[in-house]
Amino acid sequence: MYIDSHCHINFPELAVRMPEILQKMQDNGVTHALCVSVDLPDFPQVLALAEQYPHIYASVGVHPDYEDTEEPSAAQLVALSQHPKIIAIGETGLDYFRLKGDLEWQRERFRQHIRASRISGKPLIIHTRAASEDTIRIMREEGAGTDNGGAAGVMHCFTESLEVALAAIEMGFYISFSGILTFKSAKDLQAVAKALPLERILIETDSPYLAPMPHRGKMNEPGFVRHVGEYLADLKGLPVKQVQETTSKNFFDLFKITP
Ligand SMILES: [Zn+2]
Ligand SMILES: [Zn+2]
Repeated sequence: MYIDSHCHINFPELAVRMPEILQKMQDNGVTHALCVSVDLPDFPQVLALAEQYPHIYASVGVHPDYEDTEEPSAAQLVALSQHPKIIAIGETGLDYFRLKGDLEWQRERFRQHIRASRISGKPLIIHTRAASEDTIRIMREEGAGTDNGGAAGVMHCFTESLEVALAAIEMGFYISFSGILTFKSAKDLQAVAKALPLERILIETDSPYLAPMPHRGKMNEPGFVRHVGEYLADLKGLPVKQVQETTSKNFFDLFKITP
């Protein structure tokens, strides 16, 4: 069994194919998926999927790339997270790659999410791109980690250095690898995955983006997380079954789910 710890199956290109997507999850042994919220207007659809399907979970948050959207307060995020199928706050974080200029609003938005996570006790889903220094600094300042009274969470679609991964793990976080791990060009990232303990690793698709090999370039979907898991097993020289069981257990432990 595998779990897709991060997907966007509420996006229209995937939502219209839901029966096929659920079937392909089953065909590939993908037992659960976490549908991650990116802004407040989309949140009702994300929640509706989690309410409709027992094996789909959801989060609430506003993505750092969504510039012209309703700004959430910590209190608002906490209120929206009060539902048994909402298991996380995010995705949140910093992205200095997609957007330039004065990004103070991104950092403030990130702080609101960390505060919501601390109040609700629900773990964070953190997106960081070209901003790892500020990401780690704000995580520390706001007490995101279990070392500081926070609920910790996951660094999703991880593409940063081993140093950044270890700093996050030290705060109680998990590291999640997407299909990028399977790309030939991702040698540095593969070295990071190899060096990290399997006990701190999750796997994800971030679908509809970033389809893993051998589907690179196609529309991604949760069933394809199997390829990330198989690649990780090969990379670490571990039995596939061990990667399946440990990454699934990590997911259930982090999000406090009784499977
Ligand atoms: Zn992301
Ligand atoms: Zn995402």
